Amino acid sequence: MNISKYFSLQQMSEGVYAAISTPGTGSWANAGIIDIGGQTIIFDTFATPSAAKDLRSAAEELTGRKTSYVINSHEHIDHVHGNQVFSDAVIISTNQTRQQIAVRQPNFIEMVKKNTHYLDQMRNEMKRETNLAKRQETETLLGEYTAITNGADHSSLTLPSMTFKEKMIFHGTRRSAELITCGSCHSSSDSFLYLPEDRILFLADLMHIGCHADFRQGDIDNWINSLDKIKLLDARVVVSGHGKVGTAEDLTVMQNYLLDFKKLAYDCSQKDGTMENIHELDIPEAYKDYLVPSVFYSNLRFLLEKIA
Ligand SMILES: [Zn+2]
Repeated sequence: MNISKYFSLQQMSEGVYAAISTPGTGSWANAGIIDIGGQTIIFDTFATPSAAKDLRSAAEELTGRKTSYVINSHEHIDHVHGNQVFSDAVIISTNQTRQQIAVRQPNFIEMVKKNTHYLDQMRNEMKRETNLAKRQETETLLGEYTAITNGADHSSLTLPSMTFKEKMIFHGTRRSAELITCGSCHSSSDSFLYLPEDRILFLADLMHIGCHADFRQGDIDNWINSLDKIKLLDARVVVSGHGKVGTAEDLTVMQNYLLDFKKLAYDCSQKDGTMENIHELDIPEAYKDYLVPSVFYSNLRFLLEKIA
């Protein structure tokens, strides 16, 4: 099949694929293609309609049919902005996610259209930056934002046409797929897809592998508790929203990351002046090579403000 510049495909089971984002291209997050037998599900639609078009083509080529269902795991632009490419499918999310997309997506696109100077700012920032990890972060972001900006004039809002409350099950001739929400964790409402026969989880941003995970718009405690429940599903393969495909062990790594933050914020709050000097703090050894280091400092600042 044709190779896309936006993602690489990873087969995890017969008819089950992770579309792993190529950083800085306009896909920005991972997606999934699931052939349940007789019907195809797309899990998340990337950050641009252009990337979503390639996802649609890949799904049609792999499954030999059009997509029946599209899932929006949560409201963030990098998971929903390709929706318009799938306007002939049933797009599904929680009601909260749908409401958030309705407000946030038009605002975001307006902001991008009005403020093209921020691309120059990012370019200058990148040139000045001497820290390799920070430079890489800006370079990737610049790529994603450039792709979104270039396509902004042709972008239209396509909202989910069906919402669910707690759980819904897709019954295919080959396998079933369970769509479950765990409420507010990383965003205001997070959903994931579980394939019980294959023991494969599509977790979207509930799982980050090798990169910092933002919890400022969600509920860190509910996220930690939800990971306990997700562990009980006994998955063999875990598809992250950002990073590679992982295993059940990565659930514990993700949980420890969140727990470590709580501890770090508590320790910082016990010392004086750390809030002002927060950027001088070293990222803990276990996470020092994680991508998107700025999220580490924003997360910590957020937790410290909450404690104060
Ligand atoms: Zn997200």
